[in-house]
Amino acid sequence: MPRVLVVGGGPAGASLAFLLARRGIETTLIERQRDFAREFRGEVLMPSGLEAIDQMGLAAEFEGVETREMQNFELYMNAKRCVSVELQPGAVDGRLPAAVSQPGMLEMLVAEAGKHTCFELVRGASVMGVIWTGGRVSGVRVRSDRGERRINADIVIGADGRASAVRKQTGMHVRHAEPPMDIVWGKLPCPPNFRGVRGYLGRGHLVIAYRSWDDQLQLGWVILKGTFGEIRGRGVEHWITEVAKLVTPDLAAHLRTYAYAVAKPFLLDSASDCVESWSKPGALVIGDAAHTMSPVGGQGLNVALRDAIVTANHLVPLLHAPSLDTKALDKALVAIERERMAEIAPIQRLQAIPPRLVLNRAWWGEPLRNLLGHFVSTSIGQRIAMSRISIFTEGMTDVTLEV
Ligand SMILES: Cc1cc2nc3c(=O)[nH]c(=O)nc-3n(C[C@H](O)[C@H](O)[C@H](O)COP(=O)(O)OP(=O)(O)OC[C@H]3O[C@@H](n4cnc5c(N)ncnc54)[C@H](O)[C@@H]3O)c2cc1C
Repeated sequence: MPRVLVVGGGPAGASLAFLLARRGIETTLIERQRDFAREFRGEVLMPSGLEAIDQMGLAAEFEGVETREMQNFELYMNAKRCVSVELQPGAVDGRLPAAVSQPGMLEMLVAEAGKHTCFELVRGASVMGVIWTGGRVSGVRVRSDRGERRINADIVIGADGRASAVRKQTGMHVRHAEPPMDIVWGKLPCPPNFRGVRGYLGRGHLVIAYRSWDDQLQLGWVILKGTFGEIRGRGVEHWITEVAKLVTPDLAAHLRTYAYAVAKPFLLDSASDCVESWSKPGALVIGDAAHTMSPVGGQGLNVALRDAIVTANHLVPLLHAPSLDTKALDKALVAIERERMAEIAPIQRLQAIPPRLVLNRAWWGEPLRNLLGHFVSTSIGQRIAMSRISIFTEGMTDVTLEV
């Protein structure tokens, strides 16, 4: 029986490992961390991502993961409300976007995979390099506190995130888009009636606020790339004072009251890139390792789950064959990339637009933002805006689990 090695237990790797193990395929998942809670990760699941979980047959198990549905969306331009919509359950499976505990979701995925004896999870082990045999990737070198060892496999899937070792070690070339922004994240107690998502746009800034899965208010302040050092130097109180200037009086008062309770803000260094080719003979990268998504529109988690479904569709039939046809396998890896790029490329192009508008410091930036603010408050403007937003909530392509 062929053996698959998945590197990285994020949403892409954990869900793919589950899908393969469920089909009886020998699967080893290697995760650098011992505990999924140790790294802050994205936590907005769109209807497209929730539907992916349903398709995996995990709707009941997902009920046990902490989530908070986002019931409305408000957009403010220079602290004046220009859009306020009750979010309708999407065309996809009647679901609303939700903040989800990613550690909770990942623990659920590996627990479900662990119900199959063909699955092995190795925690606290880092992949350091790949092994080549006759021009094909045939395994990885792994380091843990028990030393270094080699693990052989018929195929290596790199789902090891934006700093992917598999991507680097197989020599994949990367195209970088360089978003001009970074995001400062912080959490504090949530106002009692805060149900959905608010975006505050204006004066070259964007603040995002939503009720998170743990009933905390998640605050994200979009800043020009490279300016975090200065903000950090001035401390949390200064950060909150600056954010309070950009939001409505109700939220500003709340921020000032709870400034003392803000969990240490940290920087998300925004990146957007894509490898030129997702595969080498015997190896494939998926999720952020293939295409690191900009944080715009909360897409990374959702497209990672959808990558896993398409990868399973192509790989499971080949891995069930009595002997592995490596030529067919390598062709399947290219087909996975082609199918997923039909969604990833347009989404990445769409993600690049808002930061250019929001952070534009040219003389015409502010008049343009005001004009746009007026436009999106009209009914035709709202229709156009919602059709763009639906690409983020529902995805671009039809992704259906077939195996
Ligand atoms: C602060 C922040 C906020 C975000 N907000 C959102 C959001 O709201 N919505 C959204 O959809 N997306 C968001 N994202 C993006 C989202 O988290 C990622 O796009 C998504 O997690 C990608 O999933 P992945 O499985 O491809 O990679 P990751 O989630 O990065 O998982 C990779 C895994 O591989 C492991 N790993 C790395 N290197 C190795 C190695 N050498 N050996 C073994 N294991 C390794 C890591 O420990 C990690 O567990 C956010 C990201 C960040 C950082």
